[in-house]
Amino acid sequence: MRRKLPLILAALLPLLSSCIVVHSPGPWDVPEPPWEEPGPDEPAAAIEAHDQLYAVLWMQASVEYGAVCRTSYDRAQVALDAALSDPNWTAALEQRGLGNLPVKTAVIMDIDETVLDNSPHQAQLILDGRPFDAAFWRKWVLRGEAGSVPGALEFIRYAERRGVSVIFVTNRDAETPGDRNSPQERATRRNLEALGLSLPEDEDTLLLRNEVQGWGSDKGSRRVLVAQSYRILLLVGDDLGDFMSAIRTTPEDRAAKAAEHKEMWGRGWIMLPNAIYGSWEGALYGYERNLSDVQILNEKRARLRGTGN
Ligand SMILES: [Mg+2]
Repeated sequence: MRRKLPLILAALLPLLSSCIVVHSPGPWDVPEPPWEEPGPDEPAAAIEAHDQLYAVLWMQASVEYGAVCRTSYDRAQVALDAALSDPNWTAALEQRGLGNLPVKTAVIMDIDETVLDNSPHQAQLILDGRPFDAAFWRKWVLRGEAGSVPGALEFIRYAERRGVSVIFVTNRDAETPGDRNSPQERATRRNLEALGLSLPEDEDTLLLRNEVQGWGSDKGSRRVLVAQSYRILLLVGDDLGDFMSAIRTTPEDRAAKAAEHKEMWGRGWIMLPNAIYGSWEGALYGYERNLSDVQILNEKRARLRGTGN
């Protein structure tokens, strides 16, 4: 009889389970949104703001975002040690196959959403119900009040303790081509110093877009410059362009490029999460600046992969 009990239970299980209301969380539990879906005549800014609400909240209000950043930076420390111990190692494609590599070592780090946290700027756009605009961004940069991305400052101090230079390559804009001491450069330096970092006085380690003629948004030319003096141990960033050139192509081509160098991720290349913006977003609509906001939204929706029913 004891041996039969499980069989009886098994036979009853379908009946029992039909009486139990299974309540597991899922999309079906999400209440109806309190907002109205924007109609075709709504201002584009409302659509744009709605577009980024979750991404900004994830970065500002979730522990999950901070945990991913800290995981990346912990991994960066391990990768730094490994890179230091191999004098033939370089993380920069621009430095591969060059023969004798420089003795001095450096890591190249992006600034925005890699070291500095600009989410308050993005949150303000949502609160104001308006889209990104360059003047408002500039104003935010010049304030020099950004906080730091979790784990970034600890990693920079670790690299410095190990005798590794930290070179910042950022697409913050010098505005006047050739201006090596631009307002945005000074504000960024002030911002980093306010967070407790000290930048060397005798060498420019903060390389902005346009601060030298020919330094465009593609960071390859700046990596080439750094590669002349330093063996590049690691690249740290939040965008494919922080690791390789010519990334303003289709999403499919970008995926192929990332896969081509898949052995670099987590070793020479450390990626930080950024769900708010990046070259990935422009790739969805071919970086086409002439499209209206509604057209861009439609291009993005066309990229969604649904279940087909
Ligand atoms: Mg960035």
